[in-house]
Amino acid sequence: MPTRVNRTPHPCRMLALLAGLVLGGLAMPSPGAEAQLVLFNGRILTVDPRDTIVQALAIRDGKIIAVGTDRDILRLTGAATKRVDLRGRTATPGLVDSHAHIADGGVEDLYHVHLSDVSTVEQAVRRVQAGLAALKPGAWLQGDGWDEGKLAERRYISASDLDRVSPDNPVWLMHTTGHYGVANSAALRLARIGANTPNPTAGTIDRDAKGTPTGVLKEAAMDAVLALVPPPTQEEQRTGILKSIDTLHREGITAVKDPSIAQPVWDAYVSLLNEGKLAEHICVLWYAGSTLASAQAALKAISAQPRPPQSLGDGRLLSCGVKIYMDGSGGARTAWLFEDWNKNSTDRDTGNAGYPSTDPEVYRRMVRLFHQAGIHIGTHAVGDRAIDWVVDTYAQVLADSPTPGLRHSIIHANIPSDHAIQVMSMLEGKYDAGFPEAQAPFMWWLGDTYAANFGPERSHRLLPLNTYLKHGIHWGGGSDYSVTPVAARYGLWASVERETLKGTYGAHPFGTAEAVDIHAALRSYTIWGARQLFLEQRIGSLEIGKDADIAVWDRDMYEIPSPELKNLKCELTILHGEVVYDAARP
Ligand SMILES: [Zn+2]
Repeated sequence: MPTRVNRTPHPCRMLALLAGLVLGGLAMPSPGAEAQLVLFNGRILTVDPRDTIVQALAIRDGKIIAVGTDRDILRLTGAATKRVDLRGRTATPGLVDSHAHIADGGVEDLYHVHLSDVSTVEQAVRRVQAGLAALKPGAWLQGDGWDEGKLAERRYISASDLDRVSPDNPVWLMHTTGHYGVANSAALRLARIGANTPNPTAGTIDRDAKGTPTGVLKEAAMDAVLALVPPPTQEEQRTGILKSIDTLHREGITAVKDPSIAQPVWDAYVSLLNEGKLAEHICVLWYAGSTLASAQAALKAISAQPRPPQSLGDGRLLSCGVKIYMDGSGGARTAWLFEDWNKNSTDRDTGNAGYPSTDPEVYRRMVRLFHQAGIHIGTHAVGDRAIDWVVDTYAQVLADSPTPGLRHSIIHANIPSDHAIQVMSMLEGKYDAGFPEAQAPFMWWLGDTYAANFGPERSHRLLPLNTYLKHGIHWGGGSDYSVTPVAARYGLWASVERETLKGTYGAHPFGTAEAVDIHAALRSYTIWGARQLFLEQRIGSLEIGKDADIAVWDRDMYEIPSPELKNLKCELTILHGEVVYDAARP
């Protein structure tokens, strides 16, 4: 991928740029400083504070130097200027995903068995059987992406399903949420999980009526198997990241927050950066574990890196902060709730209100440790009880040491209570913290499983985007890839439509009262997301002085009927003024 080093503009040009600002967005170039690239004859949704739409913009040294009418912008061209005629097409800022596991997801995509599109247990078993053909006896088979909500049988895959085709090779199939999975009997044996194995703290070994493990392991119960599964090699890790970046470019996404990484992934990112191959803005959160000791170790790793918004490679790689898990998943019914989970929509999962995945008091001490060190914290919290605990913790540490601007976030924030929404609103206004990083595509991709588990009443409180708007709460949009597909168009669509994939419990079990319009949805995938990556000064809107990160689309997302948002096609992606994807030259 082409890369370039951006220079600070010459002082004369800075004056010209300032003059341009005063003149309403048009900058006159000083001699010899004409645009290197212009986009014209388009509808450019700038996502500036007034949501201005312009015809054209000009780029120099990877930055936007002017926005305005075709006439104004074409005056900035010279003999060497490259011109892109948009032919009426729409451009937006490069999209921002505030939560996507692109390093892990790329490895899964390239090296694991894919199960996200299987619609029966039998089909999943046959995929495993096919995958085994390439493996040596005894080698692990890894697969990802299954979801019982998409299976005709509407049940978990079990060890006995897998044993039929793989009696000897250990098999581990991760659920699409990443919070549970299924092992075959060979894998359970290696992990020493049997009928007499107790559930670990913050984990569940799923069992049949006789108490025999079914193979499904949730949360911390997965650890015994995950410790045995071979990790990707450094080369696989690097190749996986490059695969993901290519996919992002095809979808107009130019910035991503990759949460929950460890040293090998950081090293892979740095090595790609050093080779000039990291054609993306990437901000990472280091996994902080669930103990004070693991938190100290994460703090040490972070302390060796520059603090955001400082970066490596001119905004390409940022060590943004840490990730802590407060609870589990809405898929596994392990997220921490005030009231018991449902099953099959209206049945009660009696006695199961989920659980915290980090001891709540330990969590509070971990947050204090990072906050006092000035480190950004993203906490995974899905259930209402977990979210309350997280926002109350943030409020407490901020009241004690009111450092603004750390942007502590609530990752997922699936069903916040009214109290949590009040606290988020206060935290954003007072401390520039407490931001939800919400994944609208959960309602679609996980929607049928979610509707079954949250039940009819709670479902209406899922991802209350409209209530956020009313309370002045800004959120970062995201996919949680590979939990859902990475394309942001799905999230833009889901923010507006709130529809499930299969409609098992009706098309709109989450209601439509919390839907927002495309303008708010696009903000969550651009300027609001950029803030959560500490990059709002340079990306997220198309304004003078910002990075020229741009996506060109086949249709105008402000004008098309909202059901079509999902099918938008990205035709051109520009990063720092360089074309990184062109659909005409795939
Ligand atoms: Zn995640």
